[in-house]
Amino acid sequence: MRTTVCVVGGGPAGLVLGLLLARQRVQVTVLEKHADFLRDFRGDTVHPSTLDLLDDIGLADRMAGLPGRRAAALRVTFDDGTYTVADFTRLPAPHNYLYFVPQWDFLELLATEAATYPAFTLLRSTTVTALRRDASGAVTGVHATGPEGELEIEASLTVACDGRDSVVRHALGLRPVDYGAPMDVLWFRISRRPGDGDGLAMRVGSGGLLLAIDRGDYHQCAYVIAKGGYETVRAAGLAALRDEVARRHPVLADRVGELATWDDVKLLTVKVDRLRRWHAPGVLLIGDAAHAMSPIGGVGINLAVQDAAAAARMLGPTLAAGQPVTEADLAAVQKRRQLPTVLTQNVQRAAQRRVVDPLLRATGRVDAPAPIRLAQRIPALQAVPAWLIGIGVRPERAR
Ligand SMILES: Cc1cc2nc3c(=O)[nH]c(=O)nc-3n(C[C@H](O)[C@H](O)[C@H](O)COP(=O)(O)OP(=O)(O)OC[C@H]3O[C@@H](n4cnc5c(N)ncnc54)[C@H](O)[C@@H]3O)c2cc1C
Repeated sequence: MRTTVCVVGGGPAGLVLGLLLARQRVQVTVLEKHADFLRDFRGDTVHPSTLDLLDDIGLADRMAGLPGRRAAALRVTFDDGTYTVADFTRLPAPHNYLYFVPQWDFLELLATEAATYPAFTLLRSTTVTALRRDASGAVTGVHATGPEGELEIEASLTVACDGRDSVVRHALGLRPVDYGAPMDVLWFRISRRPGDGDGLAMRVGSGGLLLAIDRGDYHQCAYVIAKGGYETVRAAGLAALRDEVARRHPVLADRVGELATWDDVKLLTVKVDRLRRWHAPGVLLIGDAAHAMSPIGGVGINLAVQDAAAAARMLGPTLAAGQPVTEADLAAVQKRRQLPTVLTQNVQRAAQRRVVDPLLRATGRVDAPAPIRLAQRIPALQAVPAWLIGIGVRPERAR
């Protein structure tokens, strides 16, 4: 099979890249190893920067029609009360809110829109297993396994959007610098009832934090534990976990029994890493394949989408003209996206070190830190985290 661009992975980075290239009439084939997007733990937040970008390509209305929830502010409950940490209404309209939307709906919307362009092909249930190379070692496509067996795809450019355990990265022998993370996350659902409160609930207390994301008829819960602490949590037993969840978020106390077995609880391993070089001859890596993001701030999807927008804008015209993309072109994409990635990861690492790690070690009462209390007295300060989370450094557009 021959295509101009072979995109490995149909996550946020891969599908946005596929869509934006197909709009420029570049032949693009996206390979996704799963049959659908219905995996549970993919993160839920779509931020104003991504909503602005979707607006540019006429998808804002359909995005608004998905079963999502808008959060105008990020509020955190400490032992001494509930505080507004980020006020998104202070950002420019119209997308001055966080949008919590199950990622499978978001990805399905992107795939459906992309399929309206003749240049776009999505091959589901197709797993990339190896790279194809020419005599000089340059990447010229991939080998994959699909529903009909082995597949070889020849491409002018291969883009790895296959996430933090990237097969492409491994095949290239590229090793990211691992910056470490003090936490992992337990991910589970508990039913939601009228009167539970809307949007996102974030509860901080000794020993960690619990997030409950409003997904309509259930809360998607993220319970943060110390790195490598899963075995300890398991050894303490499911009853102890239920008690902890009920203690942190009392509204769930009458329902924690829904966590019936450990099969109801998934362990998500948190990683922060980054490649020094995001490209090699014939291949570019973007999104988590180039830089795995911590869940802090829920910005990983948005950075992946913006990497894709930059790559499509910078490489699309050359590819559409049938010209070869050089390594200098690929290096330019990395140069453009490196600064926002490094700055965002540095903020996440500082938050991990200064906020999450001490919280996980705390044994007594946890009151709101001074900067958060100050931001209650001077609400204009709530615009700063809102901007960092919602828009961030160097947002990309697709006009
Ligand atoms: C606990 C946790 C919670 C998070 N919560 C949030 C959040 O709320 N908001 C947020 O913005 N970010 C969140 N993140 C980060 C976010 O999930 C990632 O940064 C984001 O998904 C990266 O997008 P991506 O497209 O680069 O990769 P991915 O989303 O990982 O997509 C990669 C795709 O490639 C496919 N694939 C993999 N290997 C192959 C192969 N060999 N062949 C074919 N296909 C393949 C996968 O099936 C997948 O569809 C969270 C991360 C963690 C760890």
